[in-house]
Amino acid sequence: PHRPRPLVAGNWKMNGLRRDLGEIAAICAAVGAGDAGQAEIVICPPATLLMAAAPICKGSPVALGGQDCHIEASGPFTGEISAEMLKDAGAEFVILGHSERRLDHYEHDHLIQEKTKAAYRAGLSAIVCIGETRAEREAGEALPVIAAQLAGSLPGLSTSERLVIAYEPVWAIGTGLTPTLGEIAEMHRFIRLRLDQLLPQQGVKIRILYGGSVKPGNAAELMAVDGVDGALVGGASLTSADFMSIAAVY
Ligand code: PEP
Repeated sequence: PHRPRPLVAGNWKMNGLRRDLGEIAAICAAVGAGDAGQAEIVICPPATLLMAAAPICKGSPVALGGQDCHIEASGPFTGEISAEMLKDAGAEFVILGHSERRLDHYEHDHLIQEKTKAAYRAGLSAIVCIGETRAEREAGEALPVIAAQLAGSLPGLSTSERLVIAYEPVWAIGTGLTPTLGEIAEMHRFIRLRLDQLLPQQGVKIRILYGGSVKPGNAAELMAVDGVDGALVGGASLTSADFMSIAAVY
């Protein structure tokens, strides 16, 4: 089976002041020195840090990403940031549909699809997050929930260069809990099947990351699961040493 280049992305969420840019510098230095193994590395700091982080990452293989974007390129949308603005600030990626956006900001699949189109329009790659809640899993609904999120969130014109999927069970985010390795394998197999159906030719090549309480101590076993093409890391991405030891499993 096709084995794409793995991708390890760090989601800083609403964390990070200018004094924390040293963590990004440390990651760039380590990746530049070959300490990250084979994976492609992306850091998604808060948008306020992108412009300061861009010159730090310049010339290193580390790419920057935003954490959300608006569907329009510009206009009367107070407080919003467009994909074009993220690109202009130095981002190459954007996380879309994170569960903290879906749940706290009532983002639905169709909006996430529009945001993903906006990312493509601006020349960004999208990391589209999907994942079931604990209640959905306990009700035996995890697979249909994921199927609906995939069908609703992905534009038809998605390519493996521009789209990355992050499977993040909501109950595993920031909780220290993870699904069993078998459950992760089953879900990644299912997502691959659906991607194949939704996006002919491309679906087979699109990277499917696992996210949810990935730490230095569990990264090796999680990333070794069949069908896992990398990680989306929250809490453990805030410390360069932890993030690098996760990236180094590749
Ligand atoms: C996330 O929010 O994308 C995430 C995976 O968080 P954590 O690693 O902290 O569980």
